[in-house]
Amino acid sequence: MWICPRCGRQFKQETREHSCEVYTIEDHLKSVPEELRRLYLDFESALKHCGPVSVTALKSMIVFRRESNFAAVALRRDRLRASMLLPGSTPASLRFVSSKPYGRKLHVEFDLRDKDELDDELRAWMQQAYDLAAPAA
Ligand SMILES: [Zn+2]
Repeated sequence: MWICPRCGRQFKQETREHSCEVYTIEDHLKSVPEELRRLYLDFESALKHCGPVSVTALKSMIVFRRESNFAAVALRRDRLRASMLLPGSTPASLRFVSSKPYGRKLHVEFDLRDKDELDDELRAWMQQAYDLAAPAA
């Protein structure tokens, strides 16, 4: 574990490849409509249901991490743009705005506008992404 002396963030190994500017979740939430704020909090709590998660606010997105990053959310004016690293074998879905191979995983993006979209399918994806980000055995 390496802790950046400038911003205090923790990394697996020493890296200069990050911005030392520090943001908070509130920075992301303060300028969006209340419904979107609630949707984000529901999304976050659904992810945390998978197990211990660390949440980091970057400039343009909020990143969810276990041993490695497995999901991220950007708050847009009218929706959440979420991304996740799923198993490479994940079937294509019309819900994906984009999907592309990322090593042996699949990097997918999708939009969330309504709480109803936090359904069983999405929760299953969250769990798969979480499981994939487990520490190496
Ligand atoms: Zn730093």
